[in-house]
Amino acid sequence: MKKFICVLLCLVFLSGCGYSSAASESFECMDTFMKIDIYGSADDAADIRAEIERLNGLFSAQDESSDIGRLNKNGTADLSDETADLLSQSLELCGETGGALDISVYPIVEAWGFIDRNYRVPGESELNTLLQSTGYNKIELSGKTAKTDSGMKLDLGAVAKGYAADKAVEIMNENGVTSGILNLGGTVAAVGEKPNGEKWRVGICDPENTAAYFGSVSVSGRIVATSGSYERYFESGGKRYCHIIDPKTGCPTDNGTVSVTVISESGTRSDALSTALFVMGIDGAKKYWRSHRDFEFILLDDKNNLWLTDGAEASFKMNKDYDYNLKVITASD
Ligand code: ADP
Ligand code: MG
Repeated sequence: MKKFICVLLCLVFLSGCGYSSAASESFECMDTFMKIDIYGSADDAADIRAEIERLNGLFSAQDESSDIGRLNKNGTADLSDETADLLSQSLELCGETGGALDISVYPIVEAWGFIDRNYRVPGESELNTLLQSTGYNKIELSGKTAKTDSGMKLDLGAVAKGYAADKAVEIMNENGVTSGILNLGGTVAAVGEKPNGEKWRVGICDPENTAAYFGSVSVSGRIVATSGSYERYFESGGKRYCHIIDPKTGCPTDNGTVSVTVISESGTRSDALSTALFVMGIDGAKKYWRSHRDFEFILLDDKNNLWLTDGAEASFKMNKDYDYNLKVITASD
């Protein structure tokens, strides 16, 4: 799977910095490959892994006994604290992004075959029917009890890794671990600094060759999430269909965006926005950033333009083998 290779690459890059970790854990979770490298004990690393696996057991849409699985099956469920917390944050982000992020697109994602990998192009009437039973604003969350309209199914896939990264950082703080890099399948938490005081460098995958990276950002205390059309897609009739759905049309996003990386202090926000800005495309992304400014982003389009907010540009280094056209976005213009 493409994503697997891409994540491996980032790890090669990180370990290429020449430091060995005091403790690490590598495992598969949330349908991706994860690696934790921390300056702490083996028990600390095991605690982080256990927390991520526990959260996966609550959020997985494909597991009927998870919180989300029960909600999808029964249309109502009493949720654990964490699921209620993530659902509440997600609903806010769905609203704030004008529905570019919509955690109710699962039936559409399924119809295109992205869940069982039996890829197909659904017909217009099928999509219209499915669109009628989607819409994050039809999800009710009251305390820890959630309710959905009939036919609805939720999918926290666009935000779960970011939330898990936030919780993993909390565990590190509780355990007094101040330095580490957590790669949760393309959502990377850079905690503290390297022992020599330098910032962490997080590589961003080359969509054309996921065994390479086109550049990196130097960060400390940030979560860097990337969503790319190269991560999961299929081709049919000479056209490529990616796994990020435009909730307005029910179709895979096709606006010239190839990948979006978001850098912020919150994993949930970085993960949610990497998906949402992908759907918005460059014009929407610029506008959104100018009205929020609590994150930075890097967007690669299919014309080899690399759009960077000025804050992202300050920490970005392009690999010498690449000649993307750099386009810096500032607060005005
Ligand atoms: P990845 O999980 O590959 O890192 P994302 O964070 O961008 O990528 O999340 C994409 C996943 O979220 C898809 O696989 C799908 O399950 C779900 N999804 C697709 N489109 C949307 C959307 N517009 N809003 C919310 N979730 C989405
Ligand atoms: Mg995401």
